[in-house]
Amino acid sequence: MTPLDDYRRTPVWNGGARLKARRSLLTYLRRVWRIMLNVIGSNQSGFRMRLKFWGVRGSTPSPQIENMGYGGNTPCLEMRGPGPDVFIFDGGTGLRQLGDALLDEFKNKKLRIHFFSTHCHWDHIQGIPFFAPLYQADHEVIFYSFSAANDLQPALEYQMKGPFFPVNFDSVPIRRKFIRLESGPVKCDGLTILPFPVNHPQGAAGYRVEYAGASVVYASDLENGHTKLDTLLRDTARNADLLIHDAQYTPEEYEHRRGWGHSTWLQAAEAAKDAKVKQLILFHHDPSHKDEFIAGVTQDARKHVENTEAAREGWVVSL
Ligand SMILES: [Zn+2]
Ligand SMILES: [Zn+2]
Repeated sequence: MTPLDDYRRTPVWNGGARLKARRSLLTYLRRVWRIMLNVIGSNQSGFRMRLKFWGVRGSTPSPQIENMGYGGNTPCLEMRGPGPDVFIFDGGTGLRQLGDALLDEFKNKKLRIHFFSTHCHWDHIQGIPFFAPLYQADHEVIFYSFSAANDLQPALEYQMKGPFFPVNFDSVPIRRKFIRLESGPVKCDGLTILPFPVNHPQGAAGYRVEYAGASVVYASDLENGHTKLDTLLRDTARNADLLIHDAQYTPEEYEHRRGWGHSTWLQAAEAAKDAKVKQLILFHHDPSHKDEFIAGVTQDARKHVENTEAAREGWVVSL
């Protein structure tokens, strides 16, 4: 029996039961709608959006053996939508392996990449000089940075100048374009991407990405405690399927790191709860946090938001 039958059978004079049946009918219709969106929105690979984590560590690479369960590379997230284009969020050291994987996958096909930068701190751009597609003229990359964060183009050019790097950014053969995003969403190859400012030294962006009812919010590098931006994050992340949130510190560690630009796992859980997201993903792990420690933190966070996971390298999430 569906809630619809339940609704029909409920006697009109029983107000309370009728209200209950109406609520269960709404839940049922919502579920059907979600299934329809899944079917309509899925591409041939059977997903609406797919994410892969290539780097999950904050601040600096930390490839010691005790960190290998979650991984030691700095932030890099790959996303795919309904079209052939590839979406990348941040170019930490995880980007190097992603570049090799893309060349392997696309072989002789033209690769078009939309690269979204949260900000220009080293751990988010260090992988870019080692991104193999940069060195092939057949491919194309569009670099996006947000007006509330530092401009990506001069930072990339500076990073690849002597004495830091032997190849100038100007001389790499890939076709490229730089776009500065103002507030408001952009549409790229089917995905809608909304940048928003977050509280971080020198400014940084978060992004909400949507397609066919699936939604992911990427909020790396942010410190709670800025009333206006805390509210904006909650409003932007409202009802998202996934919230990927900075969880670098424990509440105890945070006491000695105020103003460093990062959040605790507890603040991440509170934001997820307030925004009613379906899953919280703890991200930007501190380089000193070993696998066992992160597993413990994840257990603690689950007492607040049951559906919590810690991001780990190589993890693929399909929506
Ligand atoms: Zn960072
Ligand atoms: Zn940062």
